Amino acid sequence: MDVLSVASEAYPLIKTGGLADVAGALPGALRAEGVAMRTLLPGYLAITEALVSAEVVLRWDDLFGGAAHLLAASLHGLDLFVLDAPHLYARPGNIYLGPDGRDWPDNALRFAALARVGAWLAQGRLPSWRPAVVHAHDWQAALLPAYLHYDGGRPIGSVLTVHNLAFQGVFPPSLLPALGLPPESFALDGVEYFGAIGFLKAGLLFADRITTVSPTYAAEIRTPADGMALDGLLRGRGAAVSGILNGIDTGIWNPATDPLLPAHYDATRLEARARNRAEVQFRFSLAAGETAPLFAVVSRLTGQKGMDLLLAALPVLLAEGGQLAVLGAGDPAIERGFRDAATAHPGRIGCFVGYDEGLAHLVQGGTDALLVPSRFEPCGLTQLCALRYGAVPVVARVGGLADTVIDASPMALAAGVATGVQFAPVTAEMLEAAIRRAAALRRQPQTWQRMQRNGMATDVSWRDPARRYAALYRELAG
Ligand code: ADP
Repeated sequence: MDVLSVASEAYPLIKTGGLADVAGALPGALRAEGVAMRTLLPGYLAITEALVSAEVVLRWDDLFGGAAHLLAASLHGLDLFVLDAPHLYARPGNIYLGPDGRDWPDNALRFAALARVGAWLAQGRLPSWRPAVVHAHDWQAALLPAYLHYDGGRPIGSVLTVHNLAFQGVFPPSLLPALGLPPESFALDGVEYFGAIGFLKAGLLFADRITTVSPTYAAEIRTPADGMALDGLLRGRGAAVSGILNGIDTGIWNPATDPLLPAHYDATRLEARARNRAEVQFRFSLAAGETAPLFAVVSRLTGQKGMDLLLAALPVLLAEGGQLAVLGAGDPAIERGFRDAATAHPGRIGCFVGYDEGLAHLVQGGTDALLVPSRFEPCGLTQLCALRYGAVPVVARVGGLADTVIDASPMALAAGVATGVQFAPVTAEMLEAAIRRAAALRRQPQTWQRMQRNGMATDVSWRDPARRYAALYRELAG
Protein backbone atom coordinates (compact mmCIF):
# COMPACT_ATOMS: atom_id res chain seq x y z
CA MET A 1 0.00 0.00 0.00
CA ASP A 2 1.38 3.40 -1.02
CA VAL A 3 0.93 6.20 1.51
CA LEU A 4 1.91 9.85 1.13
CA SER A 5 3.19 11.53 4.27
CA VAL A 6 3.34 15.34 4.29
CA ALA A 7 5.42 17.04 6.96
CA SER A 8 7.43 20.21 7.50
CA GLU A 9 10.39 18.34 9.04
CA ALA A 10 11.82 14.83 9.14
CA TYR A 11 14.84 13.50 11.00
CA PRO A 12 17.70 13.29 10.05
CA LEU A 13 17.20 15.81 7.24
CA ILE A 14 15.77 18.66 9.23
CA LYS A 15 14.59 18.74 12.85
CA THR A 16 13.31 21.23 15.37
CA GLY A 17 11.22 18.89 17.53
CA GLY A 18 9.47 15.57 18.05
CA LEU A 19 7.51 15.88 14.79
CA ALA A 20 10.75 15.32 12.89
CA ASP A 21 11.49 12.16 14.85
CA VAL A 22 8.07 10.75 14.01
CA ALA A 23 8.03 11.74 10.34
CA GLY A 24 11.56 10.38 9.94
CA ALA A 25 11.03 7.06 11.73
CA LEU A 26 7.55 6.05 10.65
CA PRO A 27 8.36 5.18 7.00
CA GLY A 28 11.03 2.69 8.06
CA ALA A 29 8.82 1.12 10.71
CA LEU A 30 5.89 0.84 8.29
CA ARG A 31 7.90 -1.16 5.78
CA ALA A 32 7.47 -4.27 7.95
CA GLU A 33 3.70 -3.68 7.79
CA GLY A 34 3.61 -3.69 4.00
CA VAL A 35 3.24 0.09 3.73
CA ALA A 36 5.44 2.01 1.30
CA MET A 37 5.51 5.60 2.53
CA ARG A 38 6.81 8.55 0.53
CA THR A 39 7.35 11.81 2.37
CA LEU A 40 6.73 15.25 0.89
CA LEU A 41 9.00 17.90 2.45
CA PRO A 42 9.66 21.57 1.71
CA GLY A 43 12.88 22.17 -0.22
CA TYR A 44 14.78 23.96 2.55
CA LEU A 45 18.44 24.59 1.75
CA ALA A 46 19.45 21.84 4.20
CA ILE A 47 17.51 19.37 2.07
CA THR A 48 18.15 20.55 -1.49
CA GLU A 49 21.87 20.87 -0.76
CA ALA A 50 21.94 17.31 0.61
CA LEU A 51 20.32 15.76 -2.48
CA VAL A 52 22.87 13.91 -4.57
CA SER A 53 20.52 12.99 -7.36
CA ALA A 54 16.90 13.83 -7.91
CA GLU A 55 14.37 13.57 -10.70
CA VAL A 56 12.07 16.46 -11.59
CA VAL A 57 8.57 15.00 -11.68
CA LEU A 58 6.40 18.15 -11.78
CA ARG A 59 6.98 21.82 -12.62
CA TRP A 60 5.10 25.05 -11.98
CA ASP A 61 5.83 28.46 -13.51
CA ASP A 62 3.99 30.11 -10.66
CA LEU A 63 3.36 28.25 -7.43
CA PHE A 64 2.27 30.75 -4.78
CA GLY A 65 4.46 33.46 -6.27
CA GLY A 66 7.39 31.78 -7.98
CA ALA A 67 8.63 28.94 -10.12
CA ALA A 68 8.84 25.53 -8.47
CA HIS A 69 9.75 21.92 -9.12
CA LEU A 70 8.76 18.73 -7.43
CA LEU A 71 11.76 16.46 -7.04
CA ALA A 72 11.68 12.73 -6.34
CA ALA A 73 14.69 11.41 -4.47
CA SER A 74 15.87 9.01 -1.80
CA LEU A 75 17.99 10.12 1.13
CA HIS A 76 18.91 8.47 4.45
CA GLY A 77 16.53 5.60 3.70
CA LEU A 78 13.59 7.96 3.13
CA ASP A 79 11.71 8.05 -0.18
CA LEU A 80 11.05 11.72 -0.72
CA PHE A 81 9.22 14.28 -2.74
CA VAL A 82 10.94 17.60 -2.23
CA LEU A 83 9.07 20.78 -3.11
CA ASP A 84 11.84 22.87 -4.58
CA ALA A 85 10.35 26.36 -4.43
CA PRO A 86 13.27 28.73 -3.74
CA HIS A 87 11.05 31.78 -3.22
CA LEU A 88 9.43 29.94 -0.27
CA TYR A 89 12.15 27.79 1.27
CA ALA A 90 15.66 28.65 0.08
CA ARG A 91 16.66 30.92 2.95
CA PRO A 92 19.17 30.56 5.74
CA GLY A 93 18.38 30.03 9.40
CA ASN A 94 15.46 28.42 11.20
CA ILE A 95 12.76 26.82 9.06
CA TYR A 96 9.93 28.64 10.85
CA LEU A 97 11.57 31.82 12.17
CA GLY A 98 13.37 34.72 10.56
CA PRO A 99 16.58 36.26 11.91
CA ASP A 100 14.48 38.51 14.19
CA GLY A 101 13.17 35.41 16.00
CA ARG A 102 9.64 35.90 14.66
CA ASP A 103 7.70 33.69 12.27
CA TRP A 104 8.67 34.22 8.64
CA PRO A 105 6.06 36.72 7.38
CA ASP A 106 5.05 34.41 4.52
CA ASN A 107 4.62 31.24 6.60
CA ALA A 108 0.98 30.96 5.49
CA LEU A 109 2.04 30.69 1.85
CA ARG A 110 5.09 28.55 2.59
CA PHE A 111 3.09 25.81 4.26
CA ALA A 112 -0.10 26.20 2.25
CA ALA A 113 2.07 25.43 -0.80
CA LEU A 114 3.23 22.23 0.87
CA ALA A 115 -0.36 21.17 1.59
CA ARG A 116 -1.50 22.27 -1.88
CA VAL A 117 1.08 20.09 -3.62
CA GLY A 118 0.36 17.25 -1.19
CA ALA A 119 -3.30 17.36 -2.12
CA TRP A 120 -2.48 17.30 -5.84
CA LEU A 121 -0.28 14.24 -5.33
CA ALA A 122 -3.00 12.60 -3.24
CA GLN A 123 -5.45 13.17 -6.07
CA GLY A 124 -3.20 11.38 -8.53
CA ARG A 125 -1.42 14.26 -10.29
CA LEU A 126 1.48 11.88 -10.88
CA PRO A 127 0.16 9.07 -13.08
CA SER A 128 3.05 6.81 -12.02
CA TRP A 129 2.40 7.10 -8.27
CA ARG A 130 -1.05 7.20 -6.73
CA PRO A 131 -1.18 6.77 -2.96
CA ALA A 132 -4.04 4.93 -1.26
CA VAL A 133 -4.01 7.23 1.77
CA VAL A 134 -2.50 10.60 2.65
CA HIS A 135 -1.12 11.39 6.11
CA ALA A 136 -0.60 15.05 7.03
CA HIS A 137 1.26 16.27 10.11
CA ASP A 138 0.50 19.35 12.24
CA TRP A 139 -0.73 22.77 11.11
CA GLN A 140 1.92 23.07 8.45
CA ALA A 141 0.26 20.31 6.41
CA ALA A 142 -3.25 20.67 7.81
CA LEU A 143 -4.77 22.55 4.86
CA LEU A 144 -4.31 19.39 2.81
CA PRO A 145 -7.69 17.80 3.71
CA ALA A 146 -9.33 21.19 3.08
CA TYR A 147 -7.86 21.34 -0.43
CA LEU A 148 -9.08 17.79 -1.04
CA HIS A 149 -12.55 18.82 0.11
CA TYR A 150 -12.81 21.96 -2.04
CA ASP A 151 -11.14 20.38 -5.09
CA GLY A 152 -13.68 17.58 -5.03
CA GLY A 153 -11.38 15.32 -7.08
CA ARG A 154 -10.47 11.65 -6.68
CA PRO A 155 -11.61 10.51 -3.23
CA ILE A 156 -8.75 9.46 -0.96
CA GLY A 157 -8.63 8.76 2.76
CA SER A 158 -6.80 11.33 4.86
CA VAL A 159 -5.22 11.26 8.31
CA LEU A 160 -4.13 14.34 10.23
CA THR A 161 -1.79 13.85 13.17
CA VAL A 162 -1.62 16.53 15.84
CA HIS A 163 1.79 16.57 17.46
CA ASN A 164 1.07 19.71 19.49
CA LEU A 165 -2.30 21.46 19.57
CA ALA A 166 -0.63 24.67 20.77
CA PHE A 167 0.65 25.39 17.27
CA GLN A 168 -2.42 26.10 15.14
CA GLY A 169 -1.33 28.13 12.10
CA VAL A 170 -3.70 31.12 12.31
CA PHE A 171 -3.50 33.77 9.56
CA PRO A 172 -5.40 36.87 8.34
CA PRO A 173 -8.57 36.25 6.30
CA SER A 174 -7.30 38.50 3.51
CA LEU A 175 -4.98 35.66 2.47
CA LEU A 176 -7.85 33.43 1.34
CA PRO A 177 -7.51 34.07 -2.44
CA ALA A 178 -3.71 33.78 -2.29
CA LEU A 179 -4.09 30.36 -0.68
CA GLY A 180 -6.27 29.21 -3.55
CA LEU A 181 -9.29 28.61 -1.35
CA PRO A 182 -12.81 29.47 -2.58
CA PRO A 183 -14.74 32.34 -0.93
CA GLU A 184 -17.31 29.93 0.52
CA SER A 185 -14.54 28.19 2.49
CA PHE A 186 -14.43 31.17 4.85
CA ALA A 187 -17.18 29.82 7.09
CA LEU A 188 -17.67 28.01 10.35
CA ASP A 189 -17.92 24.73 8.44
CA GLY A 190 -14.77 25.69 6.53
CA VAL A 191 -11.40 27.24 7.27
CA GLU A 192 -12.72 30.20 9.30
CA TYR A 193 -11.42 30.26 12.89
CA PHE A 194 -12.37 33.15 15.18
CA GLY A 195 -12.43 35.56 12.25
CA ALA A 196 -9.13 34.32 10.86
CA ILE A 197 -7.99 31.39 8.72
CA GLY A 198 -7.12 28.39 10.89
CA PHE A 199 -4.94 25.81 9.17
CA LEU A 200 -5.16 23.27 11.98
CA LYS A 201 -8.85 23.93 12.47
CA ALA A 202 -9.46 23.21 8.78
CA GLY A 203 -7.53 19.95 8.98
CA LEU A 204 -9.38 18.85 12.09
CA LEU A 205 -12.65 19.51 10.31
CA PHE A 206 -11.90 17.82 6.99
CA ALA A 207 -9.48 14.95 7.70
CA ASP A 208 -11.15 11.54 7.70
CA ARG A 209 -9.23 10.53 10.80
CA ILE A 210 -7.41 12.58 13.43
CA THR A 211 -4.70 11.04 15.48
CA THR A 212 -2.66 12.50 18.22
CA VAL A 213 0.43 11.04 19.76
CA SER A 214 -0.91 9.46 22.94
CA PRO A 215 -4.29 8.21 24.17
CA THR A 216 -4.26 10.53 27.19
CA TYR A 217 -3.51 13.60 25.04
CA ALA A 218 -6.33 12.53 22.69
CA ALA A 219 -8.68 12.65 25.69
CA GLU A 220 -7.19 15.86 27.16
CA ILE A 221 -7.62 17.91 23.97
CA ARG A 222 -11.33 17.16 24.00
CA THR A 223 -11.69 19.06 27.29
CA PRO A 224 -12.05 22.86 27.62
CA ALA A 225 -9.02 22.98 29.93
CA ASP A 226 -6.60 21.53 27.37
CA GLY A 227 -8.48 21.87 24.08
CA MET A 228 -6.98 25.29 23.25
CA ALA A 229 -10.32 26.44 21.78
CA LEU A 230 -10.54 23.40 19.50
CA ASP A 231 -12.07 21.01 22.06
CA GLY A 232 -15.62 21.53 20.79
CA LEU A 233 -14.63 20.69 17.23
CA LEU A 234 -12.64 17.68 18.45
CA ARG A 235 -15.54 16.39 20.55
CA GLY A 236 -17.74 16.78 17.49
CA ARG A 237 -15.43 14.50 15.49
CA GLY A 238 -16.24 11.68 17.92
CA ALA A 239 -14.65 8.35 17.08
CA ALA A 240 -12.59 9.88 14.26
CA VAL A 241 -10.13 11.03 16.95
CA SER A 242 -7.69 8.54 18.47
CA GLY A 243 -4.28 8.40 20.13
CA ILE A 244 -1.30 6.38 18.91
CA LEU A 245 1.87 6.61 20.99
CA ASN A 246 5.16 7.51 19.36
CA GLY A 247 8.10 5.18 19.45
CA ILE A 248 11.81 5.88 19.26
CA ASP A 249 14.39 4.40 16.92
CA THR A 250 15.70 1.59 19.10
CA GLY A 251 18.53 1.00 16.62
CA ILE A 252 19.90 4.48 17.25
CA TRP A 253 18.85 4.51 20.91
CA ASN A 254 20.55 1.30 21.98
CA PRO A 255 22.75 1.49 25.10
CA ALA A 256 24.51 -1.73 24.12
CA THR A 257 25.88 -0.24 20.89
CA ASP A 258 25.43 3.56 21.01
CA PRO A 259 28.67 5.09 19.64
CA LEU A 260 27.92 8.29 21.58
CA LEU A 261 28.34 6.52 24.95
CA PRO A 262 31.74 6.01 26.61
CA ALA A 263 30.50 2.73 28.17
CA HIS A 264 28.00 0.26 26.74
CA TYR A 265 25.58 -1.71 28.90
CA ASP A 266 22.29 -3.54 29.02
CA ALA A 267 19.83 -4.46 31.77
CA THR A 268 22.16 -7.19 33.03
CA ARG A 269 25.20 -4.87 33.19
CA LEU A 270 23.82 -1.72 34.75
CA GLU A 271 27.02 -1.15 36.72
CA ALA A 272 28.71 -0.12 33.45
CA ARG A 273 26.55 3.03 33.50
CA ALA A 274 28.83 4.39 36.24
CA ARG A 275 31.40 5.43 33.65
CA ASN A 276 28.81 7.38 31.65
CA ARG A 277 27.56 8.91 34.89
CA ALA A 278 31.08 10.10 35.75
CA GLU A 279 31.40 11.55 32.26
CA VAL A 280 28.12 13.47 32.66
CA GLN A 281 29.41 14.89 35.94
CA PHE A 282 32.64 15.88 34.24
CA ARG A 283 30.97 17.47 31.20
CA PHE A 284 28.56 19.48 33.37
CA SER A 285 31.25 20.45 35.91
CA LEU A 286 29.51 18.54 38.70
CA ALA A 287 31.38 17.11 41.69
CA ALA A 288 32.51 13.53 41.11
CA GLY A 289 31.08 10.74 43.25
CA GLU A 290 28.30 8.19 43.40
CA THR A 291 26.33 9.32 46.45
CA ALA A 292 24.42 12.35 45.20
CA PRO A 293 21.32 11.49 43.16
CA LEU A 294 21.97 12.86 39.69
CA PHE A 295 18.95 14.48 38.03
CA ALA A 296 18.98 15.69 34.43
CA VAL A 297 16.96 17.60 31.87
CA VAL A 298 17.08 17.22 28.06
CA SER A 299 14.46 19.61 26.83
CA ARG A 300 13.34 22.79 25.24
CA LEU A 301 13.60 25.26 28.11
CA THR A 302 10.05 26.60 28.02
CA GLY A 303 6.96 27.01 30.14
CA GLN A 304 5.25 24.10 28.35
CA LYS A 305 8.06 21.88 29.58
CA GLY A 306 7.56 23.14 33.16
CA MET A 307 11.11 24.44 33.34
CA ASP A 308 10.06 27.44 35.44
CA LEU A 309 8.65 24.93 37.96
CA LEU A 310 11.98 23.17 38.08
CA LEU A 311 13.76 26.47 38.73
CA ALA A 312 11.39 26.99 41.66
CA ALA A 313 12.04 23.44 42.94
CA LEU A 314 15.86 23.73 42.87
CA PRO A 315 16.20 24.41 46.63
CA VAL A 316 14.48 21.09 47.37
CA LEU A 317 16.61 19.22 44.83
CA LEU A 318 19.71 20.66 46.51
CA ALA A 319 18.39 19.95 50.02
CA GLU A 320 17.97 16.31 48.98
CA GLY A 321 21.69 16.31 48.20
CA GLY A 322 20.97 16.12 44.49
CA GLN A 323 22.91 17.25 41.46
CA LEU A 324 21.36 18.60 38.27
CA ALA A 325 22.60 18.55 34.66
CA VAL A 326 20.54 20.69 32.28
CA LEU A 327 20.81 20.34 28.49
CA GLY A 328 18.46 22.58 26.59
CA ALA A 329 17.65 25.85 24.93
CA GLY A 330 14.61 28.04 24.61
CA ASP A 331 13.09 30.86 26.61
CA PRO A 332 15.92 33.36 27.35
CA ALA A 333 14.66 34.03 30.91
CA ILE A 334 14.65 30.30 31.73
CA GLU A 335 18.06 29.81 30.13
CA ARG A 336 19.34 32.64 32.32
CA GLY A 337 17.70 31.07 35.37
CA PHE A 338 19.61 27.82 34.94
CA ARG A 339 22.87 29.62 34.08
CA ASP A 340 22.54 31.70 37.26
CA ALA A 341 21.72 28.60 39.31
CA ALA A 342 24.84 26.87 37.95
CA THR A 343 26.95 29.90 38.92
CA ALA A 344 25.41 30.02 42.39
CA HIS A 345 25.87 26.28 43.02
CA PRO A 346 29.14 25.19 41.42
CA GLY A 347 29.60 21.43 41.41
CA ARG A 348 25.90 20.91 42.14
CA ILE A 349 24.13 22.35 39.09
CA GLY A 350 25.55 22.30 35.58
CA CYS A 351 24.00 23.79 32.48
CA PHE A 352 24.68 23.49 28.75
CA VAL A 353 22.55 25.90 26.75
CA GLY A 354 22.23 24.61 23.22
CA TYR A 355 21.15 21.64 21.16
CA ASP A 356 23.56 18.71 21.21
CA GLU A 357 22.49 15.25 20.07
CA GLY A 358 25.66 13.58 21.37
CA LEU A 359 25.33 15.14 24.80
CA ALA A 360 21.65 14.11 24.92
CA HIS A 361 22.70 10.46 24.48
CA LEU A 362 25.42 10.77 27.12
CA VAL A 363 23.02 12.33 29.63
CA GLN A 364 20.45 9.57 29.09
CA GLY A 365 23.16 6.94 29.39
CA GLY A 366 24.52 8.32 32.66
CA THR A 367 21.95 10.21 34.69
CA ASP A 368 20.12 8.54 37.57
CA ALA A 369 16.81 10.28 36.85
CA LEU A 370 15.40 12.36 34.00
CA LEU A 371 13.04 15.20 34.94
CA VAL A 372 10.08 15.93 32.63
CA PRO A 373 7.72 18.27 34.52
CA SER A 374 5.70 19.34 31.44
CA ARG A 375 2.44 21.27 31.87
CA PHE A 376 1.20 19.40 28.81
CA GLU A 377 2.97 16.80 26.73
CA PRO A 378 1.35 15.30 23.62
CA CYS A 379 3.64 12.26 23.78
CA GLY A 380 7.16 13.20 24.79
CA LEU A 381 10.17 11.35 23.50
CA THR A 382 12.78 12.02 26.15
CA GLN A 383 11.05 9.82 28.74
CA LEU A 384 11.04 6.98 26.18
CA CYS A 385 14.78 7.42 25.64
CA ALA A 386 15.21 7.49 29.43
CA LEU A 387 13.31 4.22 29.88
CA ARG A 388 15.42 2.59 27.20
CA TYR A 389 18.65 3.87 28.79
CA GLY A 390 17.91 2.96 32.40
CA ALA A 391 17.45 6.60 33.48
CA VAL A 392 14.43 6.71 35.78
CA PRO A 393 11.86 9.21 34.43
CA VAL A 394 10.31 11.64 36.92
CA VAL A 395 7.35 13.04 35.02
CA ALA A 396 4.19 15.11 35.23
CA ARG A 397 1.09 12.93 34.92
CA VAL A 398 -0.10 14.47 31.63
CA GLY A 399 -0.46 13.33 28.01
CA GLY A 400 1.98 10.73 26.80
CA LEU A 401 3.97 10.94 30.04
CA ALA A 402 0.96 9.46 31.86
CA ASP A 403 0.72 6.68 29.25
CA THR A 404 4.36 5.58 29.19
CA VAL A 405 5.65 5.72 32.77
CA ILE A 406 4.41 3.47 35.58
CA ASP A 407 4.49 5.39 38.85
CA ALA A 408 6.32 3.88 41.80
CA SER A 409 3.16 3.69 43.91
CA PRO A 410 3.25 1.24 46.84
CA MET A 411 1.15 -1.16 44.75
CA ALA A 412 3.36 -0.92 41.66
CA LEU A 413 6.48 -1.34 43.81
CA ALA A 414 4.97 -4.38 45.53
CA ALA A 415 4.07 -5.85 42.15
CA GLY A 416 7.57 -5.01 40.86
CA VAL A 417 6.31 -3.12 37.80
CA ALA A 418 7.21 0.52 38.53
CA THR A 419 9.32 2.34 35.93
CA GLY A 420 9.40 5.90 37.24
CA VAL A 421 7.80 8.63 39.33
CA GLN A 422 4.71 10.59 38.30
CA PHE A 423 3.25 13.68 39.92
CA ALA A 424 0.02 15.64 39.62
CA PRO A 425 -1.18 18.32 39.58
CA VAL A 426 1.67 20.03 37.77
CA THR A 427 2.89 22.49 40.38
CA ALA A 428 6.29 23.29 41.87
CA GLU A 429 5.18 21.74 45.20
CA MET A 430 4.23 18.43 43.60
CA LEU A 431 7.43 18.43 41.56
CA GLU A 432 9.35 18.94 44.81
CA ALA A 433 7.52 15.98 46.36
CA ALA A 434 8.39 13.87 43.29
CA ILE A 435 12.07 14.84 43.54
CA ARG A 436 12.03 13.85 47.24
CA ARG A 437 10.37 10.55 46.37
CA ALA A 438 12.91 9.83 43.61
CA ALA A 439 15.81 10.64 45.93
CA ALA A 440 14.37 8.30 48.59
CA LEU A 441 13.89 5.50 46.05
CA ARG A 442 17.47 5.86 44.91
CA ARG A 443 18.63 5.29 48.49
CA GLN A 444 17.18 1.76 48.05
CA PRO A 445 19.52 0.37 45.38
CA GLN A 446 17.57 -2.85 44.79
CA THR A 447 14.29 -1.04 44.26
CA TRP A 448 15.98 1.53 42.05
CA GLN A 449 17.68 -1.08 39.89
CA ARG A 450 14.42 -2.95 39.55
CA MET A 451 12.83 0.24 38.21
CA GLN A 452 15.73 0.75 35.81
CA ARG A 453 15.42 -2.80 34.50
CA ASN A 454 11.62 -2.53 34.18
CA GLY A 455 12.09 0.64 32.15
CA MET A 456 14.65 -1.00 29.91
CA ALA A 457 12.24 -3.91 29.31
CA THR A 458 9.45 -1.53 28.20
CA ASP A 459 8.78 -1.69 24.46
CA VAL A 460 9.40 1.88 23.29
CA SER A 461 10.05 0.88 19.67
CA TRP A 462 8.00 1.82 16.63
CA ARG A 463 6.74 -1.74 16.15
CA ASP A 464 3.39 -1.42 17.89
CA PRO A 465 2.69 2.17 16.74
CA ALA A 466 3.52 1.22 13.13
CA ARG A 467 1.05 -1.65 13.35
CA ARG A 468 -1.64 0.74 14.53
CA TYR A 469 -0.99 3.31 11.78
CA ALA A 470 -0.98 0.54 9.16
CA ALA A 471 -4.34 -0.71 10.45
CA LEU A 472 -5.72 2.83 10.23
CA TYR A 473 -4.49 3.25 6.64
CA ARG A 474 -6.00 -0.12 5.67
CA GLU A 475 -9.32 0.84 7.17
CA LEU A 476 -9.32 4.10 5.17
CA ALA A 477 -8.11 2.50 1.96
CA GLY A 478 -10.56 -0.38 2.22
P1 ADP B 1 9.24 18.49 21.81
O1 ADP B 1 9.05 17.96 20.43
O2 ADP B 1 8.00 19.08 22.42
O3 ADP B 1 10.40 19.43 21.93
P2 ADP B 1 9.80 15.73 22.56
O4 ADP B 1 10.18 15.13 23.87
O5 ADP B 1 8.63 15.15 21.86
O6 ADP B 1 9.61 17.29 22.82
O7 ADP B 1 11.02 15.64 21.57
C1 ADP B 1 12.20 16.35 21.82
C2 ADP B 1 13.33 15.72 21.04
O8 ADP B 1 14.41 16.63 20.95
C3 ADP B 1 13.89 14.49 21.73
O9 ADP B 1 14.37 13.62 20.73
C4 ADP B 1 15.04 15.08 22.58
O10 ADP B 1 16.04 14.15 22.87
C5 ADP B 1 15.54 16.17 21.69
N1 ADP B 1 16.10 17.31 22.39
C6 ADP B 1 15.45 18.31 23.04
N2 ADP B 1 16.31 19.23 23.49
C7 ADP B 1 17.54 18.83 23.14
C8 ADP B 1 18.86 19.39 23.30
N3 ADP B 1 19.06 20.54 23.92
N4 ADP B 1 19.89 18.71 22.78
C9 ADP B 1 19.70 17.54 22.13
N5 ADP B 1 18.49 16.98 21.95
C10 ADP B 1 17.42 17.62 22.43
